[in-house]
Amino acid sequence: ASALARAESLIGSIPDYPQPGIVFRDITPLLADAAALRTTIDALIEPFEGRFDVVAGIEARGFLLAGAAAIAAGKGLVPIRKAGKLPRPAATVSYALEYGTAEIEMHDDLPAGTRVLLLDDVLATGGTLEAGRELVARLGAEVVGTAVLLEIDALGGREVLGGDVHAVFHV
Ligand code: IMP
Repeated sequence: ASALARAESLIGSIPDYPQPGIVFRDITPLLADAAALRTTIDALIEPFEGRFDVVAGIEARGFLLAGAAAIAAGKGLVPIRKAGKLPRPAATVSYALEYGTAEIEMHDDLPAGTRVLLLDDVLATGGTLEAGRELVARLGAEVVGTAVLLEIDALGGREVLGGDVHAVFHV
């Protein structure tokens, strides 16, 4: 099998986590494998090489990919955090969850026009990455790409993102 197929085989499926009826996709075995991590990070950023200035990762598992991707690309890293965690003035976007709402924030000093590659681990319904895009746009920066390690096709997140998302793996 190819290196990417081997990496994909390391993604776990955990039934009934975090709630009964949910199958949680667990990327931690892939992250723990040096060759799989390297191959996956390369595939995550490859379509956008040379077209972005910074990598923005969404808390918490997006951080795991964004740090590695930023180093691999030779770019900086900007965190998108859950509300209330950033020490300096930040922009905030609220978005709907299945029950209730969530808020994510980004420091508001990202220079206008900065070209951002937006990353998260898993694309499910698309709400999180859509909010991330809104946040970057609110700062006058530009999302030049949105990428995830794993897309859960049946949950329709791709449509929410207008089809414009790169997924290394699908389930
Ligand atoms: P969405 O907003 O519905 O697309 O959900 C995506 C967010 O939920 C991401 O930040 C993921 O980290 C998390 N998420 C949803 N499903 C899973 C999963 O099966 N495994 C890991 N993370 C998940």
